[in-house]
Amino acid sequence: MFANSDYLILMPSLAMLALASVLILAWLIQRSQSFLLWQSCAYSLTALSLGAQSIFPLEVLNHYALVIGCFYLLGAWCLANSWAERWKVSAQRNAALIIAIVTLANLHYFSSIEQNVWARVSSFSIGSGLVLLLPILKVRAKKTSFDWLDRSLLWLSIIFTAYTFTRPVLIWLLGYTDLRSLPKSPYWLLTLMSVLSFSILFTVVMIFIAINEIICKLREERDHDALTKILNRRAFQEHAQKRLADRRLYPISVLSCDMDHFKRINDTWGHERGDQVLQLASATLQKNVREHDLVARFGGEEFVLLLIDTTLRDAELIALRIQRDLGSNNTVLPSGPKLTMSFGISPVTNPLQLEQAIKEADQLLYQAKNAGRDRVHVSGVTYPDIFIDSPRQPDAVAA
Ligand code: GH3
Ligand code: MG
Ligand code: MG
Repeated sequence: MFANSDYLILMPSLAMLALASVLILAWLIQRSQSFLLWQSCAYSLTALSLGAQSIFPLEVLNHYALVIGCFYLLGAWCLANSWAERWKVSAQRNAALIIAIVTLANLHYFSSIEQNVWARVSSFSIGSGLVLLLPILKVRAKKTSFDWLDRSLLWLSIIFTAYTFTRPVLIWLLGYTDLRSLPKSPYWLLTLMSVLSFSILFTVVMIFIAINEIICKLREERDHDALTKILNRRAFQEHAQKRLADRRLYPISVLSCDMDHFKRINDTWGHERGDQVLQLASATLQKNVREHDLVARFGGEEFVLLLIDTTLRDAELIALRIQRDLGSNNTVLPSGPKLTMSFGISPVTNPLQLEQAIKEADQLLYQAKNAGRDRVHVSGVTYPDIFIDSPRQPDAVAA
């Protein structure tokens, strides 16, 4: 039925279907990255339309002009949805629908009422370009700060949209008038090759984005405690070493703290409420420190804090503020006992001494427990004078 060259002209469409399958396989790994699925739909719809336009005779194409137009526009809309999904902006369905209706009306007019190929290509290119532009405008207005992968996706999207708008100029420059010679025209070959090249680029960027997202999620799970969402012991050590390596951040204090009589809370109110108390305690700790300080759950109901640019005296004030906050805001067990915590505070003077400082803070915590709990015990060791010249800002230690 078809000549060999007809099969060759189908290669780009088949390649796009293969890319669509790759994206579906990538989506199957997590099933949560729906932007992969949208992109796969975009490729499939475009591949089918390109394939049909490459092989079917003019009479058939004219008859199905609106159907093919719908497929192309749906493909553009799926691609716009894929970007919108990734950037977490709206793909503006209503605006896209209006653009699609106007474009299809134009396609109908220029294929059935007044045959004009250039006008057809122009209205289609402008229509699909506008659909693609919608999420780009939204994300530009949102001014989100992207990492280099999402920035690459954004720029690729902008270039592809600009290319879509300029297609009528290409057809004009490459001088093609006879519809029957469409599949063999330089314009059509350029269209196929450029759509395929963009598809390959988009696939590579999207797959990298998907992999990066999975790696970030795994890293997040590795570094954070599942219950309280704060750092775990391993991540604390890693982040602490980075801060301790910067001499400008001293004086640095380490606080070891532990909920008092927590076993009683579990025994009286149940493990689930106990969990909620732990979440409340970690939120209270986090609320009372600065962004660059560290709060970690070291185990059970024991937490460790690293406060940068903080003297022992300031650290003590912060511990007292945490105790007050926790004691007066028991939202989990309003009719339960007053929640209390004991603290041990020790200075950190260099990266190699962190372990020893935590050990000393633990011993001070143990002393605080033995002395009756709900107490703050501070190390008698003072910082060398060189660390005391930059006390913590008053706002951070204000009661
Ligand atoms: P102290 O004042 O001396 O610290 O007494 P305590 O009862 O707080 O300490 P103890 O070490 O005797 O008990 C701690 C309890 O914390 C025992 C354990 O079952 C409970 N626990 C540890 N991890 C979790 C958790 O993730 N969720 C809940 N609900 N309880 C936990
Ligand atoms: Mg305890
Ligand atoms: Mg304990």
